[in-house]
Formats: sequence, C-alpha cells, structure tokens
Amino acid sequence: MTHRDHNAPLPPLSELHGIGPTRVQRLASLGLTTVRDLVMYFPRTHEDRTHVVTIVDLVVSAKNTIRARIDTVRSRRSFHRKLMTIIEARVADDTGDIKIVWFNQPYLAQSLRIGEEYMFTGVVKQTRNGLQMASPVHEKIDAHKMLTHTGRIVPLYALTAGITQNQMRYFVKQALERVLPCADYLPASIRAAAHLLPLSDALRNVHFPQTAEKLTAAQRRCDFDKLYVLQLLNMLSRASFRTQQAPVLLMQTEVIKKFVAALPFTLTNAQRKCAWTIVQELAQSHPMNRLLSGDVGSGKTIVAGIAILNTLRSDYQAAVLVPTAVLAEQHYHTFQKLFAPTNVSIQLCTSKTKQDNVMNAQLVIGTHAIIQERVQFQRLGLAVIDEQHLFGVAQRKRLKEASGSPNLMPHLLSMTATPIPRTLALALFGDLDLSIIDEMPKNRKPILTRVVPPQKRAAAYNFLREHMRNHQQVFVICPLIEESEMLAVKSVTKEFARLSTEIFPDFRLAMLHGKMKQREKETIMQAMRLGNIDMLVATSVVEVGVDIPGATIMVIEAAERFGLAQLHQFRGRVGRNDQQSYCFLFTDAVGGKPLERLAALIKSHNGFELAEHDLALRGAGTLYGTIQSGFGDYALDLFAQPRLLADVQIAAKQTIAQNLLARTPLLRKKLQERLDELHLE
Ligand code: ADP
Ligand code: MG
Repeated sequence: MTHRDHNAPLPPLSELHGIGPTRVQRLASLGLTTVRDLVMYFPRTHEDRTHVVTIVDLVVSAKNTIRARIDTVRSRRSFHRKLMTIIEARVADDTGDIKIVWFNQPYLAQSLRIGEEYMFTGVVKQTRNGLQMASPVHEKIDAHKMLTHTGRIVPLYALTAGITQNQMRYFVKQALERVLPCADYLPASIRAAAHLLPLSDALRNVHFPQTAEKLTAAQRRCDFDKLYVLQLLNMLSRASFRTQQAPVLLMQTEVIKKFVAALPFTLTNAQRKCAWTIVQELAQSHPMNRLLSGDVGSGKTIVAGIAILNTLRSDYQAAVLVPTAVLAEQHYHTFQKLFAPTNVSIQLCTSKTKQDNVMNAQLVIGTHAIIQERVQFQRLGLAVIDEQHLFGVAQRKRLKEASGSPNLMPHLLSMTATPIPRTLALALFGDLDLSIIDEMPKNRKPILTRVVPPQKRAAAYNFLREHMRNHQQVFVICPLIEESEMLAVKSVTKEFARLSTEIFPDFRLAMLHGKMKQREKETIMQAMRLGNIDMLVATSVVEVGVDIPGATIMVIEAAERFGLAQLHQFRGRVGRNDQQSYCFLFTDAVGGKPLERLAALIKSHNGFELAEHDLALRGAGTLYGTIQSGFGDYALDLFAQPRLLADVQIAAKQTIAQNLLARTPLLRKKLQERLDELHLE
C-alpha cells in the first residue's frame, strides 16, 4: 500500500465528483479549496443513527432509523398547494409497513428503486391514515459500500447556502478516499506513548466513525496534533531565544534591601518570591523571558520596580512598555513616586519625545509603539511589558536592534492581570517562564459588591451622592459595545450628559473614551488623581491597570454583558486604599443565568475562580477573548482539556529531548506550515 503524504499539494475540489464551478465557489466561502481542505474540515458534531428499529417498534414523534424495502412509489400534487409535488412511498420490513412522504423533491420519483432495501432516518408521526415518516434521510443499502448518511454515526458539518449535509458528506468521503492512507507525521514513539490513533485512522474516524469510542479517540488525536504543533513551535522559539546573549545584571542585594525597607508597606511573600526569581535570572548571560501573572491589585508594579532598580544599578537602562498612552502616563507617575527616594531619571516617551531623551534617561516609559518607531537606546538591559500577552518574535527582534548593543538581547518581563491557569499559560505562551503572584496585600478590605436592579437605581444614586460629598471618587463604566467605537463614544457621551445635568448637577463629572485626544485624556486622569473629579464616566475600553487610589466606588452599567473576569478587573480599580470600597453592578436582567453569573462576583474575589466560573458557563472563547487575538482561530476550547494538555507537554518535551525532529521530515514540514499560517493570521 502506498502511503501518501497528507501534506502533499492536492488537487483542487473541482476534480471531485459532483463539484462544478458553482459549488467550487460555495465551498470556497467555507475556506475550502483543495481536497485536503475538505479532509481537514472536521464535522461540527455527529448524530448517532446506528440504532435501527423494526417498523413495529417505531416510536411516534421521535427520530427513527429503519431498514426497509420500497414496495411502491408515486408522485402527486399537493391538494392545497398545487405547485408542490409530493412523493409517497410505501416501505416494508418483516414486521410491517409505513408510508414515507417527501415534499418538493420530484426527482426522487426516478431515483428511488422499487424492490431495493434502504435505510431511512426521520421523524415518525401518527396521522389519520396510520404512521408516516416525513422527509427522511435515505440511503440505498449496497453490500459493497459503507453507509454514509444513515444507519451509522453520521457527521454534521457547518454548511453554507446551497450545500446540503448529504452533499458535504459525499464530498468529504471522496476526499478521504483520495488522501488516505497517508503517512503519519507523528514519530511512532510519541504516538505509542500518548496512545494515539494513526493519522489515517484518525482522519477517517473523525468524519465517519466506526464506533463512538473510535470517534472519541479520533477527536483526541486531532486535538492533540493542534496543541502539539503549537507547543513544539513555542519550545523551539524559546530554545532559540535562549541561545542569545543578554547583559549580565548582577544582583544588587544591598540596593534592593534598602529600597524594600523604605516602602510604606511590607511585600507579600508572593511578591518577594517573584522578585527574587526575576533578579536572579537577570544575572544570567541569557535573556529572561518571563510572564508575571497576578490578580488586579496584587502588586505587580512593585515587583517590576525591583527588577528595574536592579537593572539601573548595574548601569543599564530599563524600559516600561504599556498598551495605551494613559497607562504610560500613569506608570510615569507611579514610578516617580516609587523611585522618589532614589535618584533615578525617568523619561515619559510619547511619539513627540526627542530621541536624545531616551538615549540618556535611565528609565523610559512609553507605549508599545515606541519600539516600533526609530527609538534608540544606549544600553537597554530590561524591558517590562505591561498588559500585553503577545510580545512576538518581530517585536523582540526590534527591541534587540534598539537596545544599543546589537549582540545583546535585553531581558523581558511581561505582566498580566488576566487570570490564566498555569497549564493554559504553558500552552499559549510556552516560550515564556511563568511567575504567579497568588496572594493579595493584607490591608485590603473586600470590595462590597451589589447587583442593582432598575427599581434600586435611585437609591444607589443617593448613595453615590453621599459618598462623593465625603470626597470619595466614582468610576462609571458604560455598557459594552463591541460593534463600533463610534457607538461606544456616543453612548458614553449621552450617559455623561444625563448624569452631569439630571442626576449629579452639583458634582464635578468628566468623561473618558478612546476617541479623545491624548492631551485631554492625560489632563482628565491627572485631575482624577488629584481628586479634582468626583465621577469619571468612561467606556469599557477604559484602560486596564488604571490606578487611582482615591476611587472607592465602581459602577458598571449593563453589567450582565461583560465577562466575569472583566468585571473583576473593573472592580479591581477600586479598593486601593484602606477605606471601604464598593462595586455596583447595574442591570435590567431579571432572574436566570445573567443574575446567577453576577451573583458569583458577590461571593468571590478571586480572579482565577471567577474565570473558571465563566469558563464553565460561557466557554473558553468568551473568557479568553482578550488574549485570543494573536492565536487566530485556535480552538481555545482545547485548553479546557487539562489531561490532553499534560500529555501534549510530555510528548513535546520528549520530541525535543530525543531530537526526533531531525529524524522526522514530515513533522518539520508540518511545523513550517503552521508557522506560515501564523504569520498570515
Ligand atoms: P497590579 O498588580 O494590579 O498592577 P499594583 O502594582 O498597581 O497592582 O498595586 C496596587 C496597589 O497596591 C498599589 O497602590 C500599590 O502601591 C499597593 N501595594 C502593592 N504591594 C503592596 C503590599 N505588599 N502591601 C500593601 N499595598 C501594596
Ligand atoms: Mg498593573
């Protein structure tokens, strides 16, 4: 038997039977252009049509599959709708007979063969003239062929207009015949260790499973492959990153001790541990590439601050890169305060800043965009990347070019408040090391969280009034509007007008949204920090990571539209001082799932727990929506399979350790292909 390479360039779909120019176009709208695309077009789900009953045992009002002989077929016009053709057949098995009808499929009169045996799957109804099955899926039984549409576990595909399930199955079946059997790109030892089906077997059964067990095994193999390829690419990227040279930033123990002792609080154990790991890693001659993950308010900034100080005292520059200008400006203030007792020169870098400033400053704070531009550092030793999960190969390369020494790669510290379980982080960001701050500072009072239905809105407004009179500050987050930023701006403008004229005319209100000028945003954030604004009305895009210690009340409009993890992020914007803070979840939802979800926020103050809660309720897609960009259509649901993920990790490690890539050209090809896809996405 010849084993074809399933990656080999394959014929266009037009070579398959039944696919002409029109269907080529329709299938293209599903992203299908080659025979191989069809093979890789996995079913959306399957329907078990293996259970065949005899006619005497038919269950009324349910879907049944029977195996029966056609005795008569006749075609007639509908009494009520003259244009409709009805095909009626009488079919029988050893136990009885039944009428079958099809509407508007006149060609069936020719194709149904009297005296032949068929499988029929359809819903059975009781009519005045006895039992009847309407518009069943039917398939002629052929001793030499496997059934495709019925009498088996049948694949159901995502379709497009003008293509039916039957056609799709017919096309996929032909495609499989063309491609299979194919050579397996997985090394045999990996396959054996992870108990995986051979590729051909898996591809066949993922579409047309022989049994339910085979289907599960086939799906597991296909899921495994996706994750395995991703994991290997990550590991390779990590390995090549590690071979680079980095500046050795020796541990400045005394400096750090003094700095920590002067802080107005004591570090949590988690902060201490993370800082220690990082500072040790900076002293290595290979670049650090570490993700520091911790709930909002867990105190990541200070950990970064320690790493930065260590860098500066080793005579290297450090950079803090953030997603938005507002955050850049805020970090600028935070670090100025943090480093006030030391004499560190800090430069806020916007697109207008002169290059010389960057050259000479010790600590540069700016948006991610600054490294895209022609910024040149003199001696960059450490880059801290806040709230961005994907600092890709291209960005790292650019950073190296800008670092001032072409042969040295600066150390990288990424920070995120997105709750990412360790297994997930390893798979998504397999080329990063991970530190988790899993403990909150002790002085925090839990933020009182309340769901506010429409009838309690007025009372809530009174509460806000009272607290603003006592110099407490309020955030109001406007409803999530994903469709367009313009709509979001409109909604926030309207809400701002309503609140400032009708509800709180004697308070100082301001608004913030993405379309405002940078200068305006900065002015408003500064006023907020100084306590000159009582209430800030903002869009939901309002920068994660905003730190206004005087703010104690967070109001979220249409709260049910947000994911729990995101609501938790908003809530984390208050409760940053020793006063009691509040989070009000305004909602019009009455009862049911939405309110249950919101109730979870009242109970839990743990970002990881809430993320898992949403994962169970709404699926991984929504939860990780924020980190999804950058992974294209990667099925994030896969990450909800921790066992599989663990198997993949073992396999990937084994592949590298035993140098299996060198011996498996097909696997190398597969990796290259995925890499090319990633670059296109
Ligand atoms: P995040 O992890 O969300 O970035 P921040 O670093 O902004 O959190 O810290 C939140 C607030 O907690 C800041 O005002 C910071 O000064 C304070 N903080 C940090 N660590 C501690 C600690 N160990 N004890 C008390 N307060 C702390
Ligand atoms: Mg932060």
